[in-house]
Amino acid sequence: MLDLLSPPPAARDRTRLEIIKAIMAKPDTQQQLRRRTGYSAATISGVVRKLHEDGLVELVGASELNKEVRLLPLDGVAVGVEVGFSNIAVVARRAHQSHSDARWGSSQVSAAPGEAAWLDSAVALIREVVEEVGQGPEDIGTVGMGIPRMIDPKTQRFAPPVLAPWQDGEDPAATLAGRLTRRAGKERAGMWKVRLDNDANLGAYAASVYQYPLKETLIYIKASTGIGAGIVIGGNVFRGARGCAGEIGHTPVQQNGRYCLCGGRGCLETVIGADAMLQNVKTHLGGRPFEAPRSIRELIRSAKDGNPICSRVLREAAEQLGHSLGGLCNLLNPEVIVLGGAFGRAGAIAREACESGIRRTAMAAVVDGLTVASSEMEHSSAHGALLMGIDGEGL
Ligand SMILES: [Zn+2]
Repeated sequence: MLDLLSPPPAARDRTRLEIIKAIMAKPDTQQQLRRRTGYSAATISGVVRKLHEDGLVELVGASELNKEVRLLPLDGVAVGVEVGFSNIAVVARRAHQSHSDARWGSSQVSAAPGEAAWLDSAVALIREVVEEVGQGPEDIGTVGMGIPRMIDPKTQRFAPPVLAPWQDGEDPAATLAGRLTRRAGKERAGMWKVRLDNDANLGAYAASVYQYPLKETLIYIKASTGIGAGIVIGGNVFRGARGCAGEIGHTPVQQNGRYCLCGGRGCLETVIGADAMLQNVKTHLGGRPFEAPRSIRELIRSAKDGNPICSRVLREAAEQLGHSLGGLCNLLNPEVIVLGGAFGRAGAIAREACESGIRRTAMAAVVDGLTVASSEMEHSSAHGALLMGIDGEGL
C-alpha cells in the first residue's frame, strides 16, 4: 500500500498517484473517477489501462462503459479515528476494499478526561479493529483522525483559541503517530503522518464520497455535544483561511444568552448543544418524579420512543438549527444537508423540524431542490478520517 502511495518525482506519476488514491477511497467507474479527480477522460483511461497492464487493478462489470475500477488485493490497512466528547470510534479496512467492508469499534472513553486517557484507548481500539480486518499494527498504511475542534489546514494543529479539554501546544496527530510507531513492534522506515481534521469536515467528506458523489455542494451537520458544519464544494472540503469555516455552533442566536466556551455569548451551541438540551428536559420535568435522560443518546432514544418532553426539546432544537442554517443556505445554495451525530440518529423527528426551520429563514428558491437527509453512516467522521488519511499520504 505504502509503495503505491510513496511520493513520486515526476508530474506524470503524481497524476497516477492521485488516481490510485481516488480508487483506494472508493472503487468507481472511469466516468466517476473523472468527475471526482477533475482529470480528463483520456488521462483517466490511459492511467487505468496502465494500472491494469501492471496487474494493480481489475475492471468489474458487464457493461464495457460502466466497468468499476477496483484495486487488486493489497497489503496495508487504512485507519480512521474519531475522538469525540462521548466516545472514540475507529474504522479500518484493507486499502483495496470498499467502505462497506470496513470494520469498526468504539469505546466509551472520550476526549474529555485528557490526552492520557483517550490516547491509550484509541491505540488499543486501533489494534483491535485492525486485527479484525486480519492485519497487525505493523500493516497500518495510513491514519486519519478527527476531533471536534478547529484545525488549521496549513499546520495540522489547533487553530486558536484552543478550547478545553485540549491545551495550547498539544499536537494530537503527532502524539498518536508517535505512539503507533512505538507500538508497531518492528522498525518502520518512518513515522506515520496522521492527518488531522475537524470532525464535521470529515463527516462531510465521507458523505460526499460515499453517499452523495453527484452533489456539487453539501453541508454536513455534526450535532452532538457541540454543533459544527462541514462544507464540501465540488468534492473538496472548504475549510476557510484558518480552518474555522463551518463553525455554525458559535453563531450568536441570543443577544444576552449564556456565555460560551469560545468567549462569545448566546452561541447556537449554548442553546441546542447536548448540555442545553439535557438541561431543557430537566426544566420541563420540574420536580416531577421522572428520571431525566443522562446523555444526549438517552434523550434521543426517549424522543424516538415517544416521550413527549424529550420529543419537544429535540424538535425545538432541530428547528432552531434549521433557523440558523437558513442563512448558510442563502450563502451557499447547497443541494443536500446531511444531519449527523445525535440529530442524525434522531431520524425524521429532527429532520422534519430542521427543514421547517430552514424554510423560515432561507429564500424559497434556495429551499426548492434542497434535500435534508439523516446520515445513514455510523461513525461518519471516522470514515472521513480514513479517507483523509489516504489523501494525505504521499503528499
Ligand atoms: Zn461560542
